[in-house]
Amino acid sequence: MNVKEPFVVAGPCSVESRDQLVSIVESLQQISQVSMIRCGVWKPRTRPGGFEGLGEEALRWMSELRTESKYKDVRFACEVARPEHVELALKYGVHAVWIGARTTANPFMVQELAEILRGSELVVMVKNAPSPDVKLWMGAIERMQKAGVTSVCAVHRGFDVFKNSGYRNTPLWEVPIELRRVMPEVPIICDPSHIAGRREPLQQLSQTALDLGFDGLMLEVHPCPASALTDGNQQLPPRDFEALLNGLVWRRHDENVADEKLRVLREQIDRLDEQLLRVLVDRLQVSCQIAEVKQQSNMTVFQPKRWDWVLQQRMELAERLGLDSDFVKELFEKIHTESVRTQQESINQAEGWDFKL
Ligand code: PEP
Ligand code: MN
Repeated sequence: MNVKEPFVVAGPCSVESRDQLVSIVESLQQISQVSMIRCGVWKPRTRPGGFEGLGEEALRWMSELRTESKYKDVRFACEVARPEHVELALKYGVHAVWIGARTTANPFMVQELAEILRGSELVVMVKNAPSPDVKLWMGAIERMQKAGVTSVCAVHRGFDVFKNSGYRNTPLWEVPIELRRVMPEVPIICDPSHIAGRREPLQQLSQTALDLGFDGLMLEVHPCPASALTDGNQQLPPRDFEALLNGLVWRRHDENVADEKLRVLREQIDRLDEQLLRVLVDRLQVSCQIAEVKQQSNMTVFQPKRWDWVLQQRMELAERLGLDSDFVKELFEKIHTESVRTQQESINQAEGWDFKL
């Protein structure tokens, strides 16, 4: 089975009862954009003592429902974290499984799952690990591909980062963008529910994902979020979920190179990028001359007072120029790190050391 585009996976964070499952299936079945119903049956809880899912019992309900003619076309997905979970998911006929963030972080576990999924036709959705490490995400996808899993898709669910971004998991869009660059053949869907941790930003996050060319969405939907046993703050009632879907604009993915205006503007961007890079080369050359002076004066390469002044001054200038000061801060932090590295390297070289920093 192929991952359709746009691919919309929706359903409760956890299956909590047979009635809740029937209710959500009834609602989601009427929404034509929904490709698959997600049902958490084993819940990875950060701390012990919470609701950990109904396991096999919930899978049995899912498969029983599919024997009723009105539900026969419903496709279910569940999370798997252990080989036994995969065996049960296969036994009860789910169409897709997803590998949760905490599991992706553990290559031993991912390899065990890949072994048991070997040659399987299930859709396997691989969530990113909590840390913003694109290689770890790629590695989990590659383990599935090497095991001959034919439909692998990535799920972006945001990252644990040091800085508080106001989201439960910071989106760091550059990470899935990098995954797309290095694995262009792998569909990527976005899970705004686990990024946001609450309902309000879901519409905007979903639209951002589509604007960035994601292939679909995974959203948590619950018949009554206020009484949900897990992730109540972020789940949408079916009616709001439908409104969210109807409010989305799905954009074209193809590159319209025939558009003359786009071509001209892109040429301008290409020229400006070249100028930016040339300015960076000039800056680094001056930086190396500074390194010589520092070395002759026996000064340390990193000068905190000067750096603090540079950063403040650049951020003030950025504001006057109408640029976002956080962006400019990050940019200059990167430039400064590179400058310190090359200064240190040129001093090391002058002193006869030849290791790279
Ligand atoms: C989930 O999808 O319910 C879940 C636990 O997500 P994550 O692994 O992204 O935290
Ligand atoms: Mn959840």
